[in-house]
Formats: sequence, C-alpha cells, structure tokens
Amino acid sequence: MSDNANLFSLIEANSPHQRDSACLITQQGVPYSWNDLHQATAKIAHLLTSLNLPKGARIVSHVEKSPEALLLYLATLRAGFIFVPLNTAYQSAEMRYFIEDAQPSVVVCSPKNFGWLAQLAFQLGCEHVFTLDDILPNQGSLLQRAAPLPGDYPTVHSSADDIASIIYTSGTTGKSKGAMLSHGNLSSNAHALQTAWQWQSSDVLLHCLPLFHVHGLFISCHVALLSGSRMIFLPKFDAHKALALMNQSTVFMGVPTYYVRLLEQPGLSQAPCRTIRLFISGSAPLLTETFHAFQQRTGHTLLERYGMSETNIICSNPSQGERKAGTVGRALAGQQVRIVTDDGQPCDSGVVGHIEVKGPNVFKGYWRNPEKTALAFTADGYFKTGDLGKLDGDHYLTIVGRSKDLIISGGYNIYPKEIELLLDALPGVVESAVIGIPHTDFGEAVCAVLVCDRPVDTDQLIVTLKTQVANFKVPKKMVIVDELPRNSMGKVQKNLLRTRFS
Ligand code: AMP
Repeated sequence: MSDNANLFSLIEANSPHQRDSACLITQQGVPYSWNDLHQATAKIAHLLTSLNLPKGARIVSHVEKSPEALLLYLATLRAGFIFVPLNTAYQSAEMRYFIEDAQPSVVVCSPKNFGWLAQLAFQLGCEHVFTLDDILPNQGSLLQRAAPLPGDYPTVHSSADDIASIIYTSGTTGKSKGAMLSHGNLSSNAHALQTAWQWQSSDVLLHCLPLFHVHGLFISCHVALLSGSRMIFLPKFDAHKALALMNQSTVFMGVPTYYVRLLEQPGLSQAPCRTIRLFISGSAPLLTETFHAFQQRTGHTLLERYGMSETNIICSNPSQGERKAGTVGRALAGQQVRIVTDDGQPCDSGVVGHIEVKGPNVFKGYWRNPEKTALAFTADGYFKTGDLGKLDGDHYLTIVGRSKDLIISGGYNIYPKEIELLLDALPGVVESAVIGIPHTDFGEAVCAVLVCDRPVDTDQLIVTLKTQVANFKVPKKMVIVDELPRNSMGKVQKNLLRTRFS
C-alpha cells in the first residue's frame, strides 16, 4: 500500500483493471477510458512540471465544463500543484480580485477570453496563460503543448495536509475568501460518502453540475472516480436531456432547482427513473413540497445532504434507512456536529443554535487570511459553519438558515425559514424569502418577498399569519416579485433582496 496521500494516487489505485473501459461518457456518447484519463493527465502534468513552478503553485481554471476541464483538475493534483476553479461568469474586475489574491503561476482560460484575461494575468505577475476550448479541446494551447509529452507520469508525493485546491466562497457577506482544502480533506470526505451512499463500481453517475463548485467538482467526481465507476458528463443541466439519460444512470446529483425543473417535465414518472437508485439533493434548501412532489411522481425519496466549500459534505440522509423531509440527515462517519448557543453552550435537541463541525474534512483555513481563519474556529477546534440549525432526537439535522440571515426585531430572534414554510403553504404562494430590513423602532422588521402563481391579497396573508405565529414574526412588509434572485447553485441571494427592499 502506497503512503502517497495525493488524491490522484488514490484514484490510480482504485481504477478498474480493465483500463479500456469507459470512465466518462459525453452527452454525444463519446467515451473516455481509464487509459485516456491516465494518459491525458500524465501529459498535462508533464507540461505543468516543465514550467518549473514553485511547490504549491496555484493553477487557475476559468474554463467551460468539459471532460478536459476535469482532466486539467486531476493533472494539477497529480503534479502536486493547487487547483483554483473559478466560475466562467466572472468578469474582468472579479478576475482581477481572484488573480491578485490567489497569485497563480498558471491561468487556463477559454479561447474567447484569452485577450483580456491574458493581459490581466500577465499584468498581475502570472507567467503562463493557456487556453482550453470546451468544444474543440485540441485546438487550445494547453492540450496542443501537452500532446507530444509522455503518457505516463509518476504522481507527485503529497502528504494528507498538502493543499490540493483553493475554493473561493460565494462571498455574499463581503470579499470572497479562498478555502484551502488538503488532499486529506478531500479523500476523507469521498471515502465517507462512498460508505454513506453505498457507492459501487457498477454505479453510473449522471453528472450535470458545474465544475467550479465543490458539489460538481469534488462531491460528485471523487466518489465516482474513487469507486472506479462511470460518469455521464453533460456540459450543463438541461432537464429534458437529463431525463432522457436517466435510464442509463444509477445516481443523479443536483441542486434543488434541478428537481423543480425535472418536475416541470411532463415525461417525469417512474418509468424513466427505474435504473436510478439514488437522487441526491444539496447546496441549497430543498422545499418539502418538492420532496413530496418528486416522491409522488417518481416513487423515489430524494436524499438530502448538507455541505459547504470549507468542509465538503457534513451531514447526509441515509441511503438505507429513513430519509426525513426537511432534514439533511446525520453527521457523516468521523465528523462531530454540535449545536451551540450564541455564547458557545450546547443546545438541547430541538433547540435552534449555531452549527459547528469538527472532522478530517474541515479545511485548513482561508488562503492568506489568518484573521478570518482564526475567527472561523472555536478554541476547541470546531469550525463555525455560519449556519443555524437544530438536531432531533435521532441526531438528524434541520437547517434553519444562515446566521447572518437571522432577523432580530425588537430584541426577538426570528428564523426566516419558520415564516417561509408558513408562507409557502398559503394558497397562491409558490415560494418566499423572508429578510430583515432596517426599522427605526425595532432595529429590523420582517419583510417577505413572494413569488405567486395567481393574484394574492397580501393583507389577507398577513391576517392568516397572525393566527399562526406571534405578532413580532409577522412580516411588516410583503412584496411580490416574478422570481427570487438565485446564484448558479440555486441559492437565494438574500443580500440582493436586502439591498433592494431596505
Ligand atoms: P457553498 O460553500 O457555496 O457550498 O455554500 C454552503 C452553504 O449552502 C451552507 O453553509 C448552507 O447555508 C447551504 N446549504 C448547503 N446544503 C444545504 C441544504 N441541503 N439545505 C440548506 N442549505 C444548504
């Protein structure tokens, strides 16, 4: 058994003996074998190594999703460098911030962005900029330069604590921070998920998520690759195409919005989903209404789990056993999850408090930001997730929201989720977001932002709510919008709503 903790060496060790079998298949049915994966990552790793980069050099990836984008990630691990994936939606000012902060040695971008991005990167001291095209990958300079290089490569030796990747947080409360994840963080979580989700080499993952976020890059790919199982790779989520490929897959992972979109497909029923053994949801709250509607249409009980950039997955409902709607399940093996009061005292079961976690999956700190790192941990080494939640008697966790979304009105705490659940159950309301807005008397007042499918009388909604909850929790203001602002992972951007309605 090798003592190399490099995640790629674990993938190598777990690759099937039949290296000519498919590891990944594109939407058009083009197969990439395990041999292809090993050879292509070797070539790219040789190219990176030939640049004489310092140990721990950062490789920024700002490319569209493609099998080659995944190969670039794996090659970076293999060569012992640090992978920094960035959303291609980021424009010049955002990229300036990330490049200044990450100080990469290499930037890989789409050919269409080469002009402005290369100029910016060189100006900020980055020495190498390559291109990678998602449609014609061989036309980009990365693969052109890598193609003649050898197809084998001795994977660099890494310790479990060596940093494998920096993931920038979504930055809704200020500047985005780079969460440093080590090889050990990533592999421990992937192993815990293999067990929790009973992953088999025969599983086929229908992969529709983006590759710049932990959900699509780590949580889905690692568990599949470490199990020697296959992925069907879609460039992006498309409900119609996903549904058509369900019958070739055994596991589907998505954000709640994907399930809402699937439910809009008239063809969604038991038949096209019969080969699927797990539908997994996470990255944003799943409405219980979606959970029940999906169960009714397909016969499948969605498995909801909870994670974040700094930790990967923390809790999951079980693959065998009760999946409780509205909860994200129990802590994964090896992790301790606790709920504490504002002053750090343990909360009883059923009582809402701050969610804190400790375990081998918890990140090494924020890149070049020791102050924020220190603030993120308790004296006894728990990471403060910034989420609020409660544990039930069976240790299933329910997330109530981000602590920064907590509303304090006239000295009372109001958990937006409690009001959102009540609003969502009222006739005509499709979904809601409850936020705090400044109020001269109360400090903050409750404001409800609603999406409705028919005209509703908001005064009447307020009257109904008054019969259901204490007066201080009833919204002082209600507004109706066409849709809630969401980021690419389906999270409602309450910061935008607060700015708009304050
Ligand atoms: P990110 O770091 O972008 O993955 O965002 C992590 C945050 O997403 C968590 O701190 C939670 O606030 C939220 N989140 C993730 N999974 C869930 C879930 N199943 N239910 C509710 N919120 C979730």
